[in-house]
Amino acid sequence: MKAFTRSPWVLHYDASSCNGCDIEVLASLTPLYDVERLGVINTGNPKHADIFLVTGSVNAQNLKVLRTLYEQMPEPRVVAAVGICATSGCVFRECYNVMGGVDTVLPVDIYVPGCAARPESIIDGILQAVQLLEKKHAYMKSMHGQMKEMTIGRATALDAPEILALQKIVYQNEAEMYDDWSLAPLWQTLEDMRRDFETRVFIKAVVGGKIIGSVRAYMAGETAHVTRLIVHPYFWQQGIGMRLVEEIESCFPQARRFETFMGQKSRHTMEPYERRGYMPFRQEKVSEHRDRVYFARDREGA
Ligand code: SF4
Repeated sequence: MKAFTRSPWVLHYDASSCNGCDIEVLASLTPLYDVERLGVINTGNPKHADIFLVTGSVNAQNLKVLRTLYEQMPEPRVVAAVGICATSGCVFRECYNVMGGVDTVLPVDIYVPGCAARPESIIDGILQAVQLLEKKHAYMKSMHGQMKEMTIGRATALDAPEILALQKIVYQNEAEMYDDWSLAPLWQTLEDMRRDFETRVFIKAVVGGKIIGSVRAYMAGETAHVTRLIVHPYFWQQGIGMRLVEEIESCFPQARRFETFMGQKSRHTMEPYERRGYMPFRQEKVSEHRDRVYFARDREGA
């Protein structure tokens, strides 16, 4: 019980379970076993969830849903595979449409055995998840102490999965701000981002081995177009955005002008550019609640 310093919120998703494990998850949450008495709350909103409980195995139909739910959960988060199907695919693993357990597509932290997993095991799994969540919280906080060791440098296509995950976290804030979930960075695929690496320069900021910020740019004529400046919300207001912009500009010594754009309310993205001398020069409406503001600056002496 010492692990419960806050109320963890649980998101349950039935991937392709026979419903045996789902019934046991519900039994854990309802009055007989009543995990809520420990402060655990069941939510249907991934953006509020800390622990992702998945039952059933992964197939081509649920793979995208699993990834989308996971990406919408704020960090730190814990994934628990509940039951043997979620753990390994169970007897269905050789089926033509089964890809395997949840760890085929997501980093699973806790495995809850059983077919079906018993409520006692599920509650035990949730307790382990809470302990792990606390450790992850502590790790995220400790990274603030390592800011002096932050490195900024070129990213490669091998960094694409981590940068894409970070991009989706950051752009969820943007989507909420503008009530617009059609933002392209939220829907970019890994394949698409890997293709971007062929035409753009990517910069990453790394603390403790984890990518916490990134920006990318490409040349068109004499102008370097700088896009998608992202910094993990845990690390806002620490000057990381400005250092990333500085670094990406230094990758284009031939550029006479730098351009970028962002939403009209995105103050946290605007600030690093404004501090580098970028000025707004055009604004256009792109959706009901969102305008795109273009900023530019000329290189000194250009
Ligand atoms: S582990 Fe057993 S009970 Fe759970 S979903 Fe698979 S087959 Fe059903």
